[in-house]
Amino acid sequence: MAENVASQENQVSKHQEVGHKSLLQSDALYQYILETSVYPREPEPMKELRELTAKHPWNLMTTSADEGQFLNMLLKLINAKNTMEIGVYTGYSLLATALALPRDGKILAMDINKENYEEIGLPIIQKAGVAHKIDFREGPALPVLDLLVEDKNNHGTYDFIFVDADKDNYINYHKRIIELVKVGGVIGYDNTLWNGSVVAPPDAPLRKYVRYYRDFVLELNKALAADPRIEICMLPVGDGITLCRRIT
Ligand code: SAH
Ligand code: CA
Repeated sequence: MAENVASQENQVSKHQEVGHKSLLQSDALYQYILETSVYPREPEPMKELRELTAKHPWNLMTTSADEGQFLNMLLKLINAKNTMEIGVYTGYSLLATALALPRDGKILAMDINKENYEEIGLPIIQKAGVAHKIDFREGPALPVLDLLVEDKNNHGTYDFIFVDADKDNYINYHKRIIELVKVGGVIGYDNTLWNGSVVAPPDAPLRKYVRYYRDFVLELNKALAADPRIEICMLPVGDGITLCRRIT
């Protein structure tokens, strides 16, 4: 289901009716954050990509500007150099990552759809002078991860992995990327509060796609909390991001 682009488009147009993306109770407070701290410091290429993506029909999938700023800061704080991103869309979080990494930094980026990245994000990323850090692979992420895990030389080599694609595969991704991230490295699972639906009562009138993925998100959140190989921290940034620091 998640790999079907037509159904995805349908999902996103439904998502647009939801309105704002922040989980903050007050829209005014969220606007305050954006206008005071985020937009004034947003790098020009990220602004350009954000504004271009806003015109795209699936724009509600994009990472929000405050989350982009958060990722950029986090990557610098942990001195990330070798990273991975699952789910690129037009490349806003990818650009936030590419700008944070040192010149010889690397990002293995995967998406089943390359048009949005190549047509919208890539020209801006090239202009920003960071395209050389990105190794983009078109196709489903799971088989790529399987190949990486097969070769023991890849184990424990990633400083940071951002997971932002098909929510029904997050547990499958976790099984593999836990081997690939370094001890002390970080995995970020995005959308772990799933539009606030994680606390919706059983009879809540949820949109079909929200309801469908909700169970997978709930299951993931429980599994991460019970996983002794990681320390976790769930942040209400964007649609919820759970940071997992590998400890063994
Ligand atoms: N991080 C992006 C948003 C990603 S949206 C940003 O900042 O804008 C989710 C993306 O996951 C979509 O582009 C979709 O094509 C991709 N996707 C869906 N299923 C996938 C899969 N099995 N493997 C890789 N990518 C997938
Ligand atoms: Ca997301």
